[in-house]
Amino acid sequence: KYYRKWETNRVRTTCPHCGTGCQMDLIIKGNKLVGVEPADGAANKNLLCVKGRFASYKFVGAKDRLTDPLIKRNGVFEKATWEEALDLITKKFTGIKENYGADALAGFSCSRATNEDNYVFQKMVRTVFGTNNVDNCARVCHSASVHGLAHTLGSGAMTNPIEDITTDVDMILLVGSNPTEAHPVIGAQIRQAIQKGTKIVVVDPRKIDLVKDSDIHLQIQAGTNVAFANGMMHVIIKDNLMDQQFIENKTEGYEALKQMVADYTPEKVAEICHINPDDLRQAARMYAKAEKAPIIYCLGVTEHSTGTEGVMSMSNLAMLVGKIGKSGCGVNPLRGQNNVQGACDMGCMPYDFPGYQKVNQPKVIEKFEQAWGVSLSRNKGMTSTQVLPAAAEGKVKGIYIFGEDPIVTDPDTGHVRAALENLDFLVVQELFMTETAAYADVVLPGISYAEKNGTFTNTERRVQRVRKAVEPMGQAREDYEVFCDVMTRMGYLSQYDSADEIMDEIASLVPSFGGINYARLEEGGLQWPCPTADSPGTYIMHVGQFTRGKGLFMAIPYKEAKELPDETYPYLMSTGRMLYHYNTRAMTGRTEGINQIANRSYIEINYQDAEKLGIKEGDKVKVSSRRGEIETYAAVGDRVFPNEVFMTFHFPDGNVNEITNAVFDDIAIIPEYKVCAVDICPV
Ligand code: SF4
Repeated sequence: KYYRKWETNRVRTTCPHCGTGCQMDLIIKGNKLVGVEPADGAANKNLLCVKGRFASYKFVGAKDRLTDPLIKRNGVFEKATWEEALDLITKKFTGIKENYGADALAGFSCSRATNEDNYVFQKMVRTVFGTNNVDNCARVCHSASVHGLAHTLGSGAMTNPIEDITTDVDMILLVGSNPTEAHPVIGAQIRQAIQKGTKIVVVDPRKIDLVKDSDIHLQIQAGTNVAFANGMMHVIIKDNLMDQQFIENKTEGYEALKQMVADYTPEKVAEICHINPDDLRQAARMYAKAEKAPIIYCLGVTEHSTGTEGVMSMSNLAMLVGKIGKSGCGVNPLRGQNNVQGACDMGCMPYDFPGYQKVNQPKVIEKFEQAWGVSLSRNKGMTSTQVLPAAAEGKVKGIYIFGEDPIVTDPDTGHVRAALENLDFLVVQELFMTETAAYADVVLPGISYAEKNGTFTNTERRVQRVRKAVEPMGQAREDYEVFCDVMTRMGYLSQYDSADEIMDEIASLVPSFGGINYARLEEGGLQWPCPTADSPGTYIMHVGQFTRGKGLFMAIPYKEAKELPDETYPYLMSTGRMLYHYNTRAMTGRTEGINQIANRSYIEINYQDAEKLGIKEGDKVKVSSRRGEIETYAAVGDRVFPNEVFMTFHFPDGNVNEITNAVFDDIAIIPEYKVCAVDICPV
């Protein structure tokens, strides 16, 4: 528990939890992590939250880490050598490819692993599996941002850095984002800004903590973001508060947008969103008139069947008032996982090679064929949310899952189970025996961030070093070496001596990473685009000109969520994060102190509904939907409106994804985690 300073060493690295990318020092005694201390990083300025400070090291040395390859024989996992496990993987995947074609294989990469691991993983899927069926869990969180921002602005990433949108800004428009819990260090910086006079408008179905500090809370019903944005734009245009010069010189598509939002009067929007029309007017005027006003948003915008449209609506709003390409402004998605930005940047998506170079463009395919020395698939790849139904139908036969746990994280768990059970062969590479790993034919031990060198890219496009502090446990090896072994056994000779050699290959193929190398990263992180060795990186995107040339307004009418409350399922349920835990709790759930504070699931329910149903604080309740039912505990109060409820997705008891709805946005194929209809009753 305790250590003497002179007995320890320190290694500077990047927090493995959320996308803020806080810098911290791991404290090492022998080959053991004994603590974490904050460091002065560009994004965190010596701050760490409870997850970074206390839940970033104990899981690394946890007793239940996977330490050996495991092969399932007669339904039971048995220890195996790397030779045995890799031979079996090669035999099975090669057999599936020969018998059913390359597109019967798929790979899900890991948004918590390094850029280097992710780059080699997608290279393995594309070169030896021979398919574009590769994805990462951005699919179920921010794929709508990648598609929506790339379409309207030309680049699917945060436009401005964290310090720029939390320092000396006049107001913040916070939409569907709960940073004090999901990105606590950004939440703290927003709070500091508010204390210095920054105004804040919170647009959220719940009374999140920042509502206490807000000037206006638009407590919109979940699933009505597009209507809210159209209403804001209606007021701005009616009051002549738009930036006409910016619109004329830098954008296209404005007339169609103007005509479309003419219908969205504050009264009409108030009815759709369940808000006060005067609050909407006031918020629109405040945002338009402020000199420096960033939009900050998160999964409350993206995780809808209209997620991409919600993101494009955020671009519409910012462009309408000329708040793009300027300090203290922009459209800023807070990415959830430590390297979900990087997993997308590295091409772990079916439509893109590394650097968002499109797989449907012949010149791009030829470029990668030449660089990698193989012929590559011209077929359209499937997203992870398309691969699972295809597996249930028997079209996909083999999946390699690296560091993901879709049984817990994907909506409607029943359909994920059916898909995995129907596979001919499943490989899972993981730190722990997760719910998904239990379904695998072969489980390979992965290594944690503290046992490897590499880089993560945080939410503000900043590529930062991850440094090895301790040796891997047992027989576990570098993740990218395992992928190289699979590639070599499947006929494509592949080897890297170190992670920085992989980064050099990335830089040679990805123009926006052209100037990034480990020597430069020793001096601190670099924000892409960083095209040349003398580029300082890009602090603010779209300055002078949009990445796509002109910013594109999209006229988007409001559409209802795909499942709304009715007589049988009368409550609208939304899901999200809590402060103490991170995603499936695979990491935070192995820290005793954290579990003492937060160790079970709960459902937030309005006290009026609780009284009607005879439910008291802490009571056990049953929550059911068309997909199934779970049991959890009531948290009664006024954080949610009557007829609405909220659950976190961290806990295996009462796994909320047993009952969420597996319906998708048509563009990004992102699930609608934020809206489904449920019923509640006391147990
Ligand atoms: Fe880690 Fe995010 Fe907390 Fe920073 S804010 S310490 S990156 S979990």
